[in-house]
Amino acid sequence: MIHVFGSINVDFVFRMRRMPGPGETVMADESLTLHGGKGANQAVAAARALGRPGGVAMHGAVGDDPFGPVIRAAMEAEGIDVSGIRTVADPTGRAVILLDDTGENSITVAAGANARLQADAPAYGGPGDLLVMQMEVPFDEVAKAATIARAAGCTVLLNLAPAPEGASAEAMADLLGQVDILVVNEHELALACTALGLTAGDSIPAAVAALAARIGCRIIATLGAEGVCRGLPGGDVLTLPAIPVDVVDTTGAGDTFVGAYAAGLAEGLSDEAALQRAVAAAALTCRKVGAQSAMPRAEEIDALLA
Ligand code: ADP
Repeated sequence: MIHVFGSINVDFVFRMRRMPGPGETVMADESLTLHGGKGANQAVAAARALGRPGGVAMHGAVGDDPFGPVIRAAMEAEGIDVSGIRTVADPTGRAVILLDDTGENSITVAAGANARLQADAPAYGGPGDLLVMQMEVPFDEVAKAATIARAAGCTVLLNLAPAPEGASAEAMADLLGQVDILVVNEHELALACTALGLTAGDSIPAAVAALAARIGCRIIATLGAEGVCRGLPGGDVLTLPAIPVDVVDTTGAGDTFVGAYAAGLAEGLSDEAALQRAVAAAALTCRKVGAQSAMPRAEEIDALLA
C-alpha cells in the first residue's frame, strides 16, 4: 500500500498576454480551476500508474468549504482511499497561477488547511508499505510522520520539494536521517548537501553519491530533460536519460515521477524498472497541459515502454 502524507490544493490558473505590474489589472485570455497540491498530485500519479483501485491512501486536510467535498470525490474516483483526508476549519489550500505568453509563470500559494495537517500514529502502514511525503505541509509534521512510519517498519520516501529554505541544518539532518529514499531536483540536492555540510564537488553524480553515503539512503536526483541520477549508499551511481517527447507543459513532471516510481516499487518492480517507468510517466505528463490533468494511466506508460 502507498500512503501519501501531503498537501491538497485548488489551483486557479490564469493565462494572459503579460503579467500585471504593481497596482495594475490585466484581463486573462483563459482561466481554469484545477486540482493540485504536491501530495494530491503524487497520490493521483501513483493511483493511475498502479492501474487498479485501492493501492493508494491519501492523508491530507481540506477546508470546510465547497472545494473539500469536490476534491475528496475526485480523488475517490481515482481509486484512492480518502478516509485519511480531514476537514478542518481553515479554507482549502489555494494557488493562484499566472501564465504569460512567454511561458513565464508567477505563483502565489495560501496553505490554508494544509498548515493544519498533523501526523498521527498509527496511520501509515507497516512492513511492505510505502509512505510518500513532500514539503508543502508543516516541516515538523513531516518529520513526525517519518518517525511513526519508520518505527512501524514502513519505507519512507521523501520528495524534498519545495526546498525547505528556512529549516535549520540540525532539523534537516534529523529529517533526512529518517528517510529511506530521497527524491530531489538539482536545487533541492544542493540545499540538502549544504545543510549536511557536504562539499560534493562540481558534478551531480558526485553530489548524489556523497549524499547517499552520508545519509545512508537511496538518493534520486531528477534533472528535467536530462533524466535522473540515482545514488546508493554503497557508492553505486546510475543515470537514466529522459524520454524525448514534444513538450507542451512540464508542470507536474516531478510529481508524476514520484507517484509512478512509488507505484513501481509497490508493485514489486526492481528499482531500475521502477525508475524507468517513472521516467516514462513523467515524459508523458510533459505532453499535456496541467498536472493531474496530464498524468498518464498504466496502459499509456506501458505503451511508451513497449
Ligand atoms: P521538478 O519539476 O520537480 O524540478 P524535473 O524538472 O527534474 O522535476 O522533472 C522530473 C522528471 O520529469 C525528470 O527526471 C524527467 O524524467 C521528466 N522530465 C522533465 N522534463 C522533461 C522533458 N522536457 N522531457 C522529457 N522528460 C522530462
